[in-house]
Amino acid sequence: MPSKTQQHPIDSLKRQIAQLCEKYQRTANSVALMAVSKTRSAEDVRLAASFGQRDFGENYVQEGVEKVVELAELDLTWHFIGPIQKNKTRVIAEHFDWVHSIERTIIADRLSAQRPADLAPLNVCIQINIDDEETKSGVSPTAALALAQYISRLPALRLRGLMAIPSPSTDFQQQRASFSRLQDLQQQLLAANIALDTLSMGMSNDFEAAIASGSSIVRIGTAIFGERVKNKS
Ligand SMILES: *Cc1c(COP(=O)(O)O)cnc(C)c1O
Repeated sequence: MPSKTQQHPIDSLKRQIAQLCEKYQRTANSVALMAVSKTRSAEDVRLAASFGQRDFGENYVQEGVEKVVELAELDLTWHFIGPIQKNKTRVIAEHFDWVHSIERTIIADRLSAQRPADLAPLNVCIQINIDDEETKSGVSPTAALALAQYISRLPALRLRGLMAIPSPSTDFQQQRASFSRLQDLQQQLLAANIALDTLSMGMSNDFEAAIASGSSIVRIGTAIFGERVKNKS
């Protein structure tokens, strides 16, 4: 364990999140912190874990799986948050605990079929193209219900919620508007009897707006590990 005098950005982020929960009248501990460790070394993850961090997010399959395997004895919770190619579903189903970036039935089918029987069902979120951007991943809000109903019938997947990456903005109200749309969509799905307990939204630059709009898990990279090197965003 690290000595008491050592500090890690994880500590101050957790304090910030707690303060934001108070500010926006959210229940204490209702917002989980995922440390996005893409492009970081296994040692960076190990250090964050020694400060109590349990949830880690990865975007690139090969890189992520290497860390999952290397750090298996730490018993961390691993989230896959990147784009998914068809030929990568098996290795994801075998190594990750969560997938936040489901946008196609074929990917959901394969993940369910390939999830090893001795593992718990894979927790999944549907990625929503919340700002209707042409280049962005995710399904349109109007397609979310059908995909949610489809996933709910797959035996080895457990539908947990919705995920979004809004179009970049430094304006707080604009950030909130996007996140509020995701929150509204969650309410619509709940009203249609789809059980969802997760809103995966908020990154280093917009997590306050996400928490204000009901985020249940923020995905933070830069604010924990510093700027990433170029070409891998
Ligand atoms: C990289 C990434 C993050 C973390 O972004 P930061 O700005 O470094 O906090 C969160 N979510 C997804 C999907 C990402 O790709």
